[in-house]
Amino acid sequence: MDVIDRKFEKGLSQWNEKEQAQIMEAYEKLTHALNLSTITEEEKAEVDQAFEFALIAHAQQKRKSGEPYITHPLEVARICFVEMGLGYKSVIAAILHDVVEDTPTKLEDIRQKFGPKITKIVDGLTKLDGLYNVESPQAENFKKVLSTLVDDVRVILIKMADRLHNLRTIDGMPQHKKLKIAAETSYIYAPLAHRLGLYNLKSEFSDICLKINEPDLYDEIVFKLKDTQKERSKFINEFIKPLKLQLDSLEVPYEIFGRPKAISSIANKIKSKKVSFEEIYDLFAVRIIVDVPKEKEKSVCWQVYSIVTDVHKPIPERLKDWITTPKSNGYESLHTSVIGPNGRYVEVQIRSLRMDDIAEKGYASHWKYKGISNIHGIYDHWFDSIKEVLETPHNDAIEFLNDFKSNLYGEEVYIYTPKGEMKVMPKGATALDFAFGIHTDVGYHASGFKVNNKLVPMGYILESGDQIQVITNKNQKPTEDWLKIVITGKAKSKIRSSLKEVEKKRAEDGKEILERKLKNSKLDIEDNFEVLMKLLACKSKMELYIHFSDEKFDFAELLKKFSVDNGRLTEIKSEPKETIPTEEDRPSRTFSSNTKILINGESGEQYQYSLAPCCNPVLGDEIFAYVGTNSGLKIHRTQCRNAEHLMASYGYRVLKAEWAPLPGSSFNAMLIVHGIDDGPGVIERLTHTISSRMGVNIRSFSIEGNEGTFEGKIGLIVRSKEHLNQIIQSLAKLQGVNSVTRLDN
Ligand code: MN
Repeated sequence: MDVIDRKFEKGLSQWNEKEQAQIMEAYEKLTHALNLSTITEEEKAEVDQAFEFALIAHAQQKRKSGEPYITHPLEVARICFVEMGLGYKSVIAAILHDVVEDTPTKLEDIRQKFGPKITKIVDGLTKLDGLYNVESPQAENFKKVLSTLVDDVRVILIKMADRLHNLRTIDGMPQHKKLKIAAETSYIYAPLAHRLGLYNLKSEFSDICLKINEPDLYDEIVFKLKDTQKERSKFINEFIKPLKLQLDSLEVPYEIFGRPKAISSIANKIKSKKVSFEEIYDLFAVRIIVDVPKEKEKSVCWQVYSIVTDVHKPIPERLKDWITTPKSNGYESLHTSVIGPNGRYVEVQIRSLRMDDIAEKGYASHWKYKGISNIHGIYDHWFDSIKEVLETPHNDAIEFLNDFKSNLYGEEVYIYTPKGEMKVMPKGATALDFAFGIHTDVGYHASGFKVNNKLVPMGYILESGDQIQVITNKNQKPTEDWLKIVITGKAKSKIRSSLKEVEKKRAEDGKEILERKLKNSKLDIEDNFEVLMKLLACKSKMELYIHFSDEKFDFAELLKKFSVDNGRLTEIKSEPKETIPTEEDRPSRTFSSNTKILINGESGEQYQYSLAPCCNPVLGDEIFAYVGTNSGLKIHRTQCRNAEHLMASYGYRVLKAEWAPLPGSSFNAMLIVHGIDDGPGVIERLTHTISSRMGVNIRSFSIEGNEGTFEGKIGLIVRSKEHLNQIIQSLAKLQGVNSVTRLDN
């Protein structure tokens, strides 16, 4: 052992030689990065102390991969420092982040050794204990992390680094756990990374999720990106060459290069625009970074813009100026699209080195230039809106999580008040959202809206540059419908809490009425709660009271259903009615009984399970099982549009499911076919191919024409995913057919 090792001898001695090497490798990777920075000797000594402390605390603990556990916090610390640009305090907190959660160490021990600031961060990162009785422990824990976010943004930043390292090392995990983690990541962490301006993290989160959820698509894109790389480089060089000549004349240091887009964003294009990889023209963007002092940034960037648009023809509508008005997450850049060689559109991003640093690592990385308080400066407005969501009472953490998620929007619009003050709103926000954005009271009493001096409805969708005036009326009150009009978390939670107030009042009225009526019939309320609630199918006393809140309720009619016995109501039993199962309860009709599914590796027969009608899984699809509240186990496709929400909020109800194929299984599937309408010809070709040529049963067939094109919906009974893919391929080749896709819903 060399000198450094001896310093940590106590903690290292319990590991064998190979493990010691793994630990020291991870630590040296971190200290190497620290040594390249301006960190002082005292600060370094503190990092050493944190390492020693965590090393001893995590003694004997191993990761799933078999490596000593301590390598995880060390790598999280390195990510914080190198990839997110955080400071040495964050490094220390990251090294200690799992100590309280996973070892007997108490927060108090950390306070004594590392002081109150670090303790607060570690506390924020420690999961809540004993969350067994709540709907969603995941959501509760997330709420806890967020409530500290407002005090110290480093908590959430370290949490992000933690998540990133867990995702990077997810390979050893069982598939159903991977799915759960991926769902949670794309539901909340990826949008949050985007909101915090951590674009690199956001891309990596999304790429790893794609790899887990849709491995085939992921592999295909990786392969094709590699396959077309040469061709792409050639094109980029051709595009850049004439620019370089002129950029040189500016006499400022610059860099220019082409950069492929993230795999996940290419995948999103393929899916949302229904195009193939080959049809995507903007697989990359060209970036120009100038190295100039801050006061020259703006003018030099515009000079570069002028050069770019002199050489290549610009598309003016595509110009985006986030230099004059940065995004609210701190992003600064000048974007434009131009027409390059062969008439191809190319996106060009122009920015300074400083702006690039912010875009790559997030605004938080700028603590070194401006001090930590300034990080909060840029997020302040957003934090205010989170605080309001946190402070509004919610029924449960899931409702909170959904409201919070509404605050994580991607794009923004810029709106002006009548006085010319600018407000940033999420894209898609309505006039009513804006009213709540100004002040809760303005929202509650908003009764009319003028945009650019014209009256507009509450649901008017705001556009950049709109000047908006809110007209209030003190008699105005939120209604249930308002919830459908707004998209921001703040407006949603405020409207909901106002509705709850109203409901509470109705319940109070109802309680009085009910008590009076029971008293008139000489009945006691306490004795009769249960029977009344059962009869009226109420889940809570509050619901029961509301039933009686309007006097219209016919109490005498209700009493006819009971006999009275000793002051207690007893229901008079009537003939049992046949219950009709609801759509949700009814299993897929042709789900043949000889299809077997393994649940958590065991035969699924002991469970009541059925295939979810929302996504119609077929043999070969990636699936999971979900324990419903009253309809037994449902088997969903991992790509089901409900999957992400279910797994992110109710992960503990998700079980691993696999197909155990048996011959003769059959499944429902639905296809959407688009094409050119040439009369009965195309219908005949479709049905002929399906039933005569492929021998597949058609369950339903409908077709709709529209100005020379058609959309057909075909319900089929298929044997497996492979079988379904064969059918899709055969249909797609038919004359007049443009696209064939599987319908999820
Ligand atoms: Mn961790």
